[in-house]
Amino acid sequence: MSLVDPSVFDTGRRPVWCPGCGNYSILLALRKALAELEVSPERVVIVTGIGCHGRISEYMKTNAFHTIHGRVLPLATGIKLANPNLLVIGHSGDGDAYAIGLGHLPHAARRNVDVKLIVHDNMVFGLTTGQVTPTTPLGLKTRSTPFGNFEQPLNPVLLALSSGATFVARGFSGEVEHLKEVFKGAIRHRGFAFVEVLQPCVTFFNTYNTLRRKIYKLEDAGHDPSDLEKAIKLSLETERIPIGIFYRTSRPTLEDAFIHAMNPPVALRQKPADTKKILERFR
Ligand code: SF4
Repeated sequence: MSLVDPSVFDTGRRPVWCPGCGNYSILLALRKALAELEVSPERVVIVTGIGCHGRISEYMKTNAFHTIHGRVLPLATGIKLANPNLLVIGHSGDGDAYAIGLGHLPHAARRNVDVKLIVHDNMVFGLTTGQVTPTTPLGLKTRSTPFGNFEQPLNPVLLALSSGATFVARGFSGEVEHLKEVFKGAIRHRGFAFVEVLQPCVTFFNTYNTLRRKIYKLEDAGHDPSDLEKAIKLSLETERIPIGIFYRTSRPTLEDAFIHAMNPPVALRQKPADTKKILERFR
């Protein structure tokens, strides 16, 4: 039983997402996960990119940085190196993380920077009215592919595994309690944690029925998350879609490698800023 109420993470702003959007469940699962782990809001930094997912920084009562398109991971890495005491959680969409921002994912994974990346993957660019992204299924007709998508979709879980991520998982926004447990696993993990969340875009690509039919839980199938070879095989499944923790291992983080330059880390070298003075400039 958690001593923290998930509502402490609620800014009180009413989300503007379409009714039924999978983003609501991701928001709820994240608040619950943080509350159950009794993480204080002051310690959390949410970094978001551009897309419908990006609004989540407005609805989480934590520190937040809504950055430019595709640059969640560089920002999150910098924040973590400057102040390793913070829990840095990046949120990205499939357009943000796998198109313009793709170059950052394998490097964050192989460096094992201690940040969490949650990708809201709805397989289209929702914010700009449903164009293809790198995870759009083959043949899908969208606003930008009226004759059907002809590009082979990317496999994000396989990419994260093959790039050396030390925690790789997949969740489904239609399974909030399960998603919360996946988030808790990612938050507890020391090192780069990648969580791909299958999140239907009810307005431009409603995948709820298909996903509900195909999904099964890795825990129920007795998967051992220390088995990388099995995790890779599972990531290639298409007829059925496994959710849960594919792989988890432990190795030194980027912060461990930079310890010589982080003694103390940049943020802890400075005297605390006089916030009153700063705020007066904006009166
Ligand atoms: Fe959600 Fe799609 Fe609406 Fe964006 S456009 S808020 S992803 S349902």
